[in-house]
Formats: sequence, structure tokens, C-alpha cells
Amino acid sequence: MKNVSIAIDGPSGAGKSTLARALAKKKGYLYVDTGAIYRTLGCYVRRRGADPKDEAAVMRLLRPAKVELRYGDDGLQRMFLNGEDVSEEIRLPEVSRYASGVSAHPGVRAYLLDMQRDLARKYSVVMDGRDIGTVVLPDADVKIFLTASAEARAERRCLELQKRGTPEPLDQVLSEIVQRDWDDTHRAAAPLRQAEDAVVVDTTKLNFQESLTALLRAVGEETE
Ligand code: C5P
Repeated sequence: MKNVSIAIDGPSGAGKSTLARALAKKKGYLYVDTGAIYRTLGCYVRRRGADPKDEAAVMRLLRPAKVELRYGDDGLQRMFLNGEDVSEEIRLPEVSRYASGVSAHPGVRAYLLDMQRDLARKYSVVMDGRDIGTVVLPDADVKIFLTASAEARAERRCLELQKRGTPEPLDQVLSEIVQRDWDDTHRAAAPLRQAEDAVVVDTTKLNFQESLTALLRAVGEETE
């Protein structure tokens, strides 16, 4: 049977990972968080004290950084850097900046492309990122562009940080989101943009359950 791919793209904080994971569970597909791949490389660049914007320096670090994606017994994706589980470290806010920096280099994107396409060749996947529907899986069976206003995304992120015990002021979180949106949409290599054949799901006014229902509808799944 042919493997099915569902591509989900959109800006940071639109709820992509939580929703994509829930959708994958419901469909029985593998959930692939491609941001985690860029984060793992960003983590390595940070540890080595290199500047993520320095393309030549980052390219030199690609080979010694062995980035692996493994799935635990719970079905959740974990990231390994040279054999070490860095799944928690890659979520540090500082690593987001490194991930965004390294992901702007075309050589980095080309290097990581096969890893992502391979997964979709082998399994039915729900894959989320910025360029899945446009570059990684242009022939995906369904493409979703998941978005929400910057304010709504900042408010959700603040709640999340508060729950984690690392609160940050709303205006700071909002300005980081606006900055990352700008960086991701204005870079030359595979910028964040909506694929022409993508279905837009805007979660600004929706809670989690409503967002999931909208997503399920978009992929043609019956909802009760
Ligand atoms: O999705 P997440 O916020 O974890 O991604 C971290 C960074 O990796 C993003 O800011 C973006 O710059 C980059 N990224 C990318 N292409 C993807 C996924 C993530 O450029 N497919």
C-alpha cells in the first residue's frame, strides 16, 4: 500500500507540533517534527561556540554533527546528537535562535533534505515544518498551512513558559515571535510560505479541541 504524507507548515507557535502529533496518533502515522532536526544542528553549533550566521563555519560542522531521529516505545520522536539524547536541550529558547540561524543556509537545507524525504518514503507521515509542502514533500497527499495571529501565538507561548516555571514577559515573547517570523519568511533559502495547494487552518480564535477538529476536517477525516 502506498504511504500517505500529510504536510503541515506554518509560523512558530501556531500549535503545529501539538496538533500534528494528535493528528498522527489519530491516523496511526509517524509524526515527524522537522524543526527538531534544525534545532539539533543548532545545538551542536552552539556547543562548538560557532556563529550560526557564519555559513562556512556551519558547513564545516555538518559532518561531525551526527543528527539522528529515533522513536521511543511511547512513539514519540527523540533527537540524538552524536549518540547523546538532546531532546530536552533543543527546546531551550537560546537554541531556537541557533536553529533559525543555521536553517537559513541553503547547504544546510540540502544536507538535511534526504533525511526528511527518506522518512516519508518509508512510512506514512504527518510532517511539520516551514517548507514541507513547498520543498520537502511537494507531492504530499494533503498540505495544511496552520497559522494564528502573532498576538495569539505569543499568549499561548507565555502560558506554556509559565507552566514550565520559566515565565517571560508577553512583550518580549511577542517581539521574539515577530523577529522569527520575519527571519523565516525573508530568508532566501526555502522561506516559510504557503503552498498554492495548501488548506489554511487559522487557529487564532480556536482552542486546542476546535483546532484539532478544523485540522481533521481539512484532511478529510470525519469528526463527530
Ligand atoms: O518548528 P521549530 O520552531 O522547532 O523550528 C525551529 C527553527 O527551525 C525555525 O525557526 C525555522 O527557522 C527552522 N525550520 C526550518 N524548516 C523546517 C523546520 C524548522 O527552517 N522545516
